[in-house]
Amino acid sequence: MIGGGIAGLSAAAALSNQAKVAVLEAEEQIGFHSSGRSATMVHYALGDRLVRALTSASRSFFDDPPVDFTDTPLGHRMAVLVHARDEEKEALEQLETEISLFAPLERLDARGVHELCPLLNDDARHGIADRNGLRLDPHALLQANLKRVKSNGGELHTASRASRIERRAGAWHVATERGETYSAPILVNAAGSWADHVAALAGVQPLGLSPLPRTIITFDAPAGVALDGLPFAKTIGDELYFAPESGRLFASPMDEVPSDPTDAQPDEYEVALAAHRMEERTIVKVGRIHSKWAGLRTFTRDRHPAAGFAPDAEGFFWLAGQGGFGLQTSPAMAGIAASLIGGEAWPVADITPEQLSPGRFLAQHA
Ligand SMILES: Cc1cc2nc3c(=O)[nH]c(=O)nc-3n(C[C@H](O)[C@H](O)[C@H](O)COP(=O)(O)OP(=O)(O)OC[C@H]3O[C@@H](n4cnc5c(N)ncnc54)[C@H](O)[C@@H]3O)c2cc1C
Repeated sequence: MIGGGIAGLSAAAALSNQAKVAVLEAEEQIGFHSSGRSATMVHYALGDRLVRALTSASRSFFDDPPVDFTDTPLGHRMAVLVHARDEEKEALEQLETEISLFAPLERLDARGVHELCPLLNDDARHGIADRNGLRLDPHALLQANLKRVKSNGGELHTASRASRIERRAGAWHVATERGETYSAPILVNAAGSWADHVAALAGVQPLGLSPLPRTIITFDAPAGVALDGLPFAKTIGDELYFAPESGRLFASPMDEVPSDPTDAQPDEYEVALAAHRMEERTIVKVGRIHSKWAGLRTFTRDRHPAAGFAPDAEGFFWLAGQGGFGLQTSPAMAGIAASLIGGEAWPVADITPEQLSPGRFLAQHA
């Protein structure tokens, strides 16, 4: 397994029930890139029907994880509010129809919107609320997956960047920058934003993945505001979301400017835009910015993940393109990897393997 983010660790945990798994992570700690920089929500305003189906298939795992997986809660309830101005009402209704297939929603008028989120400006006049949203604890999730890998005899090697990959005598041989070599009949490429790069190292045709940085800032809430009951609040268009975060608020301008795979850093324009949109859409005055960070959300061309064996290389399995939904879909995606690699039951009834097949991006195999 190349990649010690949520994709690699959750698939490694699922596969370790029946196979010997070694996870190679380039950085010194797991979750250093996207998986440690996320907004950590489980909600249905993200993506389309396929992404919602993956989210829905993952939800019971978060609510009720297997007892031998963790005894730490994997998250806590946080309502999700999508709000709209008068002229955006139609778009809100469209989203309501789409989400209602997966989660019970409440329709809110202007009063209901402000009762749920008193910070919003008066022009937020329509809303849909999912009171059953979940804010994940990504540390607990990563650690529980890692614990399962280790208790099943698997290995994690950090500071182990794969730098040479070749197929010889029915196995993949991966050499790291530190000079160690690992061999296995199956190589899983869960390298997040670097997944195309890892494919190129292995001589496998890349999928054309697109890493898009997203910025988050944290700042103080107005004095006297009870943070506990506040929802994750998102504009119907992709302009702004905010939510309570460790006694403060966090906000993102939902930026999507393409980048190379890199250790993403917050761009000053996006930081200023987050503060500006927060002041435009809410009653909050953003004073000192307490912290800021950025992470990459890596998409395939159709914004659906790629999971499956590469059609052009024996034993090379893609697990990439988790975009902005990689945490909340990780139990289903891990189950899909265990099904396609280990022959376990297919875990998501209304999705087919073909819909996730990496071959759909490769002209001669589509
Ligand atoms: C601001 C922001 C908000 C988000 N909000 C949400 C949300 O609310 N809900 C949600 O579900 N998702 C959210 N996401 C998306 C989610 O974080 C990602 O989809 C997910 O973390 C992707 O996981 P990954 O394991 O594929 O990638 P990563 O976590 O980046 O892991 C890939 C790993 O591969 C390693 N690697 C790369 N190359 C090599 C190599 N050659 N050798 C060894 N290791 C290598 C990297 O070091 C990295 O650790 C958000 C993301 C961001 C940035």
